Amino acid sequence: MRDPLPRRRLFGEKLMAVAARDAGSTVRWWKNGDHPGDRIGEVLPDPIGGGTYVRQEGAVVRYFRHPQFDGGQVHDGCGRTWHDHGWIDSGGDGLTVCPGDHIWTGADGRVFGVYKPGQRGQS
Ligand SMILES: [Zn+2]
Repeated sequence: MRDPLPRRRLFGEKLMAVAARDAGSTVRWWKNGDHPGDRIGEVLPDPIGGGTYVRQEGAVVRYFRHPQFDGGQVHDGCGRTWHDHGWIDSGGDGLTVCPGDHIWTGADGRVFGVYKPGQRGQS
């Protein structure tokens, strides 16, 4: 069985073939909660205060918050403020998601990559 980790480095047609084999899916992300794995509204045990809390932030696509990026500033690449963006914890710096990006996700929930509309090679 192949190590699944290199998937994120695949490009173009090869990436598509891997995605098809794994019955992956693509979702277009616009805002918090758009990814089917985000589980917004899920009731979870509160590890700090006890009791429970309701999930507000996506489990897959999290809020984009970074000390070097003012959330009110506009991202030159898409024209939207950083607070409108999402972030996927995929190791390292993770993956930044602009509103309107496509997110390719495998059947096991692993994110293959994030793509602009009309692109297939970015990961
Ligand atoms: Zn952007």
